[in-house]
Amino acid sequence: MESTPVLLSYNSSLANYRLSENHPLRPERFSLAVALMDAWGLLDPPQTRVASPSPASDADLLLAHASAYVSAVKAASQSGAAQPDYGIGPGDTPAFRGMHEAAALGVGATCAAVDAVVAGTAVRAYSPAGGLHHAHRDHASGFCIYNDAVVAIERAIRTRPGLRVAYVDIDAHHGDGVEAAFYERGDVLTLSVHESGRYLFPGTGRATDIGTGAGLGACIDVPLPPYAGDECYQLVLEQVIAPALRAYAPDLIVLQAGADTHRTDPLTHLDLSVAGYVRLVAGIISLADELTGGRIVVLGGGGYQPFSEVPRMWASVMALLLGREVPTDLPPAWLARCADEARAAEQPAPQALGTFEESGPPPSDASAHDALAATLHAIAAVCSASPLLEE
Ligand SMILES: [Zn+2]
Repeated sequence: MESTPVLLSYNSSLANYRLSENHPLRPERFSLAVALMDAWGLLDPPQTRVASPSPASDADLLLAHASAYVSAVKAASQSGAAQPDYGIGPGDTPAFRGMHEAAALGVGATCAAVDAVVAGTAVRAYSPAGGLHHAHRDHASGFCIYNDAVVAIERAIRTRPGLRVAYVDIDAHHGDGVEAAFYERGDVLTLSVHESGRYLFPGTGRATDIGTGAGLGACIDVPLPPYAGDECYQLVLEQVIAPALRAYAPDLIVLQAGADTHRTDPLTHLDLSVAGYVRLVAGIISLADELTGGRIVVLGGGGYQPFSEVPRMWASVMALLLGREVPTDLPPAWLARCADEARAAEQPAPQALGTFEESGPPPSDASAHDALAATLHAIAAVCSASPLLEE
């Protein structure tokens, strides 16, 4: 492992994916993460190789998307006008000029990361601008235009027939687009841990959704209650993620590591701390070491504290991929850049980042207790529904 570089698939043009001036999905979530990786010394060769991606080809996009949909995205990209039949504006996913090119570059970044791990030129790879898990075959949804994970996994399976892929999604929102793509397939396990659809977009992802046909059992959804925190996520790791991955025995793990689970996220209601998120991701990386010879690709995803907690969480992931201690210091120059970019974006100044263990106010004892009880109930429901988790 030590001799093989970790690949970071990234360039600054990925920031062209900007849905509108004040849209909550801001590219600073990953550009400031890469800046912190750099400040922490995590991008230095030979352990890290930073590779500048190219846009995905039309042929690649068609592995996940209908041709009429790709044409609609291109038309919206040219004109800047909505394509309401395809989920493009008005609403969560507005049209913007250049959207096809920007979205195709994000897909290309994730494809390069997966390609490198499948080819063995890197054991671990990271595409922090990827993880746009709500994009569907024939429509945009939830800020997502093209589904980079689906394209990259399909490419990998075509390159290596018989490859078994486990897609694990820890974003606060259900990974519905990826799940839908593979719901009838046994060669891709989708496992999504998310705030329950009773409280949060997109409203799907029930414990009883377990796949169908050849995919029966190769889908696991863990819907969590509001205020599910560090302890709840550790239980999910130990009682669902680890046994499911051991039973499925994948050749490759693709982890969508959305950071909108943080307790200060303005769009969701979960309660992870930075430290809890780091323990969760570290646990999944160690499962890759145990099960896939270390082969793991990490994608970004959602995260709506783009000037503070999200970049900190995603830079921490890079340290984990390198097998290093996660730094807890935040360089003053990086903090100043976060404040400057927030000011330039006319966004509220980033709140003072909390300590590593406690970022933001914890919930009351009562809500934490309720969340733990509801999480145990959800885990029991998942284990009784899933063929993979049968004793
Ligand atoms: Zn999300």
